[in-house]
Amino acid sequence: MMIEIAPNVFQIPVMPRQMINAYLIGSVLIDAGIKSSGKTLLKAIGSRKLTAHALTHAHPDHQGASALICERLGLPFWVSAGDKAAAETGDVVGTMSNPNHPILRFEQRFFAGRGYPVTRTLKEGDLVEGFRVLETPGHSTGHLSFYRESDGVLIAGDVLRNVNYGTTLPGLGEPPAMFTPDIPQNRRSIQRIAALHPKVVCFGHGPVMRDPQRLAAFAKGLK
Ligand SMILES: [Zn+2]
Repeated sequence: MMIEIAPNVFQIPVMPRQMINAYLIGSVLIDAGIKSSGKTLLKAIGSRKLTAHALTHAHPDHQGASALICERLGLPFWVSAGDKAAAETGDVVGTMSNPNHPILRFEQRFFAGRGYPVTRTLKEGDLVEGFRVLETPGHSTGHLSFYRESDGVLIAGDVLRNVNYGTTLPGLGEPPAMFTPDIPQNRRSIQRIAALHPKVVCFGHGPVMRDPQRLAAFAKGLK
């Protein structure tokens, strides 16, 4: 399933209730769910001709099907320098504060995908299908967001989530502390994206939000 969000921007929920999302911007797939998401992604992509696959960050719920998608569709793999090692080795929880936590070990084992060689390292200011790459670290060392200034569409990754993991209802929140090695830095990344006043915010987790005031209020409340 694909949901049209804006011109040339599609959301691909890979789990029920939009708990985990990937996005298509132009011909570039951003993120690839968990290990078992390959089928869902390939079905959503259908006969579209893609040119690359990029990650917001190399966590198990974003790089899960990356190797499979790149192999099947013959796509180059674009990741930030900070997350390159995790994306290439598939050891995606090693950089978290407590990688031996049972939940993280579970995610590494059942959600994470194989590593895959990174073709291009993305950095601040790069352009991907009309979107500018923003370095928004904290949730991972090399976390990236993608922003299209012309109509204010932001692919935020996991700088913020728009779902309550307990109730599965929509709601803005910081990413879980267990998965966020540098919380103060992630808060600065939240402030940064809120300052852009994006009109449409696309999250790794939860539905798209079209309410710039809500994001601004949330960011203000963090101080
Ligand atoms: Zn995530």
